Amino acid sequence: MQDSSSNNGKVGLSNLGNTCYMNSSIQCLSNTYELTRFFLDRKYKDLIDREWKNPLGTEGRLVKAWAKLTGEMWRSNQQVVRPELFKRFLGEYNVTFQGYGQHDSQECINTILDFISEDLYKGEKKPYVEQTETEGKSDEVASYEAWNKHILRNESFIQDLFAGQFRSKLTCSVCKRVSITFDPFSMVSVPIVSVNYVEVDGYLMSYHIDENYQNFKWKFTMRDD
Ligand SMILES: [Zn+2]
Repeated sequence: MQDSSSNNGKVGLSNLGNTCYMNSSIQCLSNTYELTRFFLDRKYKDLIDREWKNPLGTEGRLVKAWAKLTGEMWRSNQQVVRPELFKRFLGEYNVTFQGYGQHDSQECINTILDFISEDLYKGEKKPYVEQTETEGKSDEVASYEAWNKHILRNESFIQDLFAGQFRSKLTCSVCKRVSITFDPFSMVSVPIVSVNYVEVDGYLMSYHIDENYQNFKWKFTMRDD
């Protein structure tokens, strides 16, 4: 995305009150290459300009504000950008973010991705889907079916880029009946190990919830150099 005359995403964001939580969320998403590429290439246009508006979205307003912000961060030569318009729409559609107080960055990222995903939903309306019955099915089949149902109501570029599935297995302690479900997620919380300092160049490789439904287990690759 290099362009010698512009800032290429290396910009500061002004605090609008205690909005550092939002600025860190924006920086985090802005540096997600595929997402920024998608917006700089204006691939969202057709989905925003059509007649049908998803009632769970923002009628494309948050997407347009995000596109404008992305453009200012990557295609201008400003050193500092004020994410004012974006902040206004975010607060308008989710009252949690209306004021200028502190909030949680993870919640903020989730909200941004949710709204953009709804605005970029590829369907024409949201079909009703029933819960998938997984009993007697292989994991491959059950996972595939659960994913297809999720996509029927949520298909969007955001889901393509960020969503995955949790497999959870629950065994009834009385009748020993086993229930397996596949639930979509777009964010994974990773616990920070309490050691002095660890340099991690990590990629989440795989994970599972253990048989007792108690501990999350994570596997990372880390580089030593
Ligand atoms: Zn039971």
